[in-house]
Amino acid sequence: MKALAVLSLIAGLLVVVAPAYGADATKISWPKAAEVLQGEVVEVRVSGDDLVAVEGRMGNEKIYFYPNSADSFSAIVGADVEAKPGPMKLLLKLSSRAGTYSQREIPFKIKAKAFRRESFSVPPGFDQMSPETLEEIRRERELFARAFAAPAPERLWEAPFLRPVPHEASASSFGLRRIINGTPRAPHSGTDLSSPAGTEVVATNHGRVVLVGNFFFAGGSVVLDHGGGLFTMYFHLSEFKVEEGALVKKGDVLALSGATGRVTGAHLHWGARLANARIDPLELLSKVPGGSENSREVKTITNKTEK
Ligand SMILES: [Zn+2]
Repeated sequence: MKALAVLSLIAGLLVVVAPAYGADATKISWPKAAEVLQGEVVEVRVSGDDLVAVEGRMGNEKIYFYPNSADSFSAIVGADVEAKPGPMKLLLKLSSRAGTYSQREIPFKIKAKAFRRESFSVPPGFDQMSPETLEEIRRERELFARAFAAPAPERLWEAPFLRPVPHEASASSFGLRRIINGTPRAPHSGTDLSSPAGTEVVATNHGRVVLVGNFFFAGGSVVLDHGGGLFTMYFHLSEFKVEEGALVKKGDVLALSGATGRVTGAHLHWGARLANARIDPLELLSKVPGGSENSREVKTITNKTEK
């Protein structure tokens, strides 16, 4: 189930928490039902006397909870851009200092979001690929899958997240679905920021560099693992400033932006992946408290971009 994901330890109030008392000795405030739109995130918080650990699971995905304070834990759960709308369950397992355990399923609803669509026709065979190109694409997919396969369990990031470049989102941004010659293509799974070539691209948060490479679609690419199932990606770069394996701090320069890969103009493609859900990275700026953009509307401007 690629649909769902988490992030953690934030102090937002996206889920209303109502007190409830389990059969055990520990008083626990379980989260009530939660809901999230495709590509978005929601904070889930649980608290209770003497709580020492919270484990979360949604479908096949582990949801990482982190302590906010002595008795409170939270996680961010996201829905993939193509998550099937409908009811899901978030399974929570709690353990207390006294060694008691509690478990509960929280109803979790995924709601459809209306993403932009664009239909157009092109001459047949316009994107026919040579065997060499197909091999390059296979390699690109494999290396990305490998980078995502083993997220660091410990949380490396700290609120707030930073905008990787100062520029704003282009019109053809997150979730855009192109229908070419009547066939729907995969939705755009990142946000395009309209950076001119040569702009410094900084790490949105602390993390480890798990992929640096040049690819057919993504061009010059850097992937960061922020721990707890969260990755961010930076595509179409012209010059790298980090190497694979490096630990970076929030604000460190990763690369310079460019127009490499399958693009029609210079921009930064910024992507985020949370417990294998492709989420809009702008959600990290707007939904994780402590950010400077929490209440700010991100204006969109027109820019020719793709991928
Ligand atoms: Zn893009």
